[in-house]
Amino acid sequence: MATEMKTYSSLASLRAQISRWRCSGLKVAFVPTMGNLHGGHYGLVDYAHTLADRVVVSIFVNPTQFGPNEDFASYPRTLEADSAGLREHRTAALYLPQMDEIYPYGESVAWVEVPGLSEILCGAVRPGHFRGVASVVARLFNHVAPDIAVFGEKDFQQLLVIRRMSTDLGFPIEIRGAPIARDPDGLAQSSRNQYLDAAERERAPVLFQRLQEVVDAIRAGQPYAQAAAEASAQLESEGFRPDYVEVRRRSDLNVPDASDRELIVLTAAYLGRARLLDNIQFDLPSVSDVSRS
Ligand code: AMP
Repeated sequence: MATEMKTYSSLASLRAQISRWRCSGLKVAFVPTMGNLHGGHYGLVDYAHTLADRVVVSIFVNPTQFGPNEDFASYPRTLEADSAGLREHRTAALYLPQMDEIYPYGESVAWVEVPGLSEILCGAVRPGHFRGVASVVARLFNHVAPDIAVFGEKDFQQLLVIRRMSTDLGFPIEIRGAPIARDPDGLAQSSRNQYLDAAERERAPVLFQRLQEVVDAIRAGQPYAQAAAEASAQLESEGFRPDYVEVRRRSDLNVPDASDRELIVLTAAYLGRARLLDNIQFDLPSVSDVSRS
């Protein structure tokens, strides 16, 4: 059902509304996005409703998280459709930050960096990306001052970077992850899927299938690195250009050792000009369970 949603493009008016809500004891959940909304984003909004009384969504295509040769200029901007969708999903406030309120000093940015975690996996192939993400999310957290913020597990590394940033800087905000929304054929939903042509779109769900095969192979006893390398080679033979396929420890994305039971297999791979991300979280039986069976 559509509902009243207010759109704010000034920080002062947004803050006034949020402090009114908080003064009357209402809990506020926040979903930051770059717009061009799809089922994945609306899943976060729906989840946010289960956690709070009011849901605030921001749309801001953040220049500092794009590399010089990436798609900042051409990133799809579809505000009208996004607003209608957010109304349908009972969003209370849509925040459209102004560039000069996010970056008041222009290119001279006070950066927020999360070392280590930002330099591996996607961070290794997109230098500066997570610095841009952490820097904009810290600003958005200060602007919105929510009780809870919701991020998608599709961008699992981003979720961990933000958790760490938030804890490190002492934001009194609970960070929640929401599961990956997929199309019926298994492809993780993404604004960048529209860069796929028809033939690529048909082939794209193979990415998720190869990750499932990595999980199956590891459960059958194959070494992690070998299972991941085989999936990567197979994806290459199927026309993908993988940046990586890796099995990691879920808590910190470090290389797992034999005692780690909570794992994740992650990939980033180009198909045509679309860079697709996906991952599967999985648990191995504890060593004592294995020795009992
Ligand atoms: P973006 O607009 O791409 O920056 O994404 C905004 C938020 O939506 C991030 O927290 C993403 O992780 C999340 N998100 C995007 N696609 C999906 C998806 N398919 N499933 C779950 N969350 C998603």
